[in-house]
Amino acid sequence: MAQGQIRKALSGYYYVEQDGELIQCRGRGVFRNRGESPLVGDVVDFTREGESDGYVMKIHPRKNELVRPPIANIDQAILVFSVKEPDFNTILLDRFLVVLESFHIEPIICLTKMDLLTDEELGQLTAYIEDYKKIGYEVMTTFKEDASLMARIQPMLAGKTTVLAGQSGVGKSTLLNTLIPELNLKTGIISQSLGRGKHTTRHVELIEVCGGLLADTPGFSSFDFDTIEKEELTACFPEFLRISEGCKFRGCLHMKEPKCAVKSALETGDIKEYRYAHYEQFLQEIFDRKPRY
Ligand code: ZN
Repeated sequence: MAQGQIRKALSGYYYVEQDGELIQCRGRGVFRNRGESPLVGDVVDFTREGESDGYVMKIHPRKNELVRPPIANIDQAILVFSVKEPDFNTILLDRFLVVLESFHIEPIICLTKMDLLTDEELGQLTAYIEDYKKIGYEVMTTFKEDASLMARIQPMLAGKTTVLAGQSGVGKSTLLNTLIPELNLKTGIISQSLGRGKHTTRHVELIEVCGGLLADTPGFSSFDFDTIEKEELTACFPEFLRISEGCKFRGCLHMKEPKCAVKSALETGDIKEYRYAHYEQFLQEIFDRKPRY
């Protein structure tokens, strides 16, 4: 039995990479019976059948898995976010961050369209950037035709499996096309055959870029908190998590509990008011969620 990683899934086949070679595998019938489905990104055991064919026999435990795109074992996400048109929105940014944190995917915040800001707006935004950096997030900024962006992103890809995520219409596809030049070709062929502006669902593939793996399709651009429980929300705000060890009660939700370290940090300004307000709102959304059966 050999071990490899699924890099592409297409028409019922899984393309398993091992030592630079792609082996075209079928899934074993037992996966269907168990309701299990191999995903791109899965580390698998497989058997060979002939020259370049085989069977996926076993899926190794996953670190995480996304539904859109359907990929497992993601390390980080480049979170592409506009500062103007649409305007910078901390609650939307925090929504993305919370979802990524809940999947244990490390976010790299990439703020675009910096050139469109007025001096006053730039001042406000700089303060926000400082806040997020202080929390521990990697924040990078970019503007139109920013030649240095690739040189800054590329080293971050080495040794990691990365997806692109973020708002729609902020340049995710452009960024992806620049990182994976051969995608331009594919997109060109698709738009020729379907006409401009039409979309097609493509398969997902992990492409080797700069010593890492990059998903060739942008990740989620919308979501809800369906999978997050109220007790888990604190852990999705890293600066809360660090401080919450000082809360008197285990499982403190930092609402009305006495001797809450998070509430004290809010008073001293160590936790930002807008971050706490977003936490409160997300917690309420989780409380209001209809129970699942
Ligand atoms: Zn607390």
